[in-house]
Amino acid sequence: MTYQHRLDGVLCNLPVGKVVCVGRNYAAHAKELNNPVPTEPLLFMKPATAIVPMAGGFSIPVDRGVCHFETEMSLLIGKRLSGASEADSLAAVVGVGLGFDLTLRSLQDELKAKGQPWDKAKGFDGSCPLSDFVSPGDLDWTQAQLQMQRNGELQQQGNSADMITPVAQLLRYISQFFTLMPGDVVLTGTPAGVGPLTSGDELEAQLDDCVSVKTHVL
Ligand code: ZN
Repeated sequence: MTYQHRLDGVLCNLPVGKVVCVGRNYAAHAKELNNPVPTEPLLFMKPATAIVPMAGGFSIPVDRGVCHFETEMSLLIGKRLSGASEADSLAAVVGVGLGFDLTLRSLQDELKAKGQPWDKAKGFDGSCPLSDFVSPGDLDWTQAQLQMQRNGELQQQGNSADMITPVAQLLRYISQFFTLMPGDVVLTGTPAGVGPLTSGDELEAQLDDCVSVKTHVL
């Protein structure tokens, strides 16, 4: 399905750009995968072709090993950010939503073991289902609650208060390496509780009381 950003319930005229992601931004998640907690943000990217709508169901790759969900707060960028301050970074966020950072975990483990880049495990077509965005309004970036239920069972629960690099600092950091353009998306990392997806799974995810999505794996 063709994807276009939606903001506050309507199609948004921003182009669909790249997705910049941060790994291990919650200490408890780094520990569950036996990874060290990084001392500075661990960045990676997904291309625009990775993005698909989260609502209405999405596909996962077949015959490529285990595909994990990672439920994350997503940010829609509305203004160009390059070498930006924290204040300018926050002001450039026009939408907040939910994203799944789908990960071919067995392939990622293989690539990591060989010292190769993760791109095939993290940036494949369809690896970034995104919800609609809503204007951040009064959302407190430092206290946003995130959760995800799979087949009625709570799998992930986190709060942006537990981020190792909070939103404003993260955007400032990213903009030192990668210029963020209008229509780009930032995924802010996953809390603990990641796990495998199976065709037919029913998923429900919430961000505070501002974003709520029900979907399923096709
Ligand atoms: Zn992630």
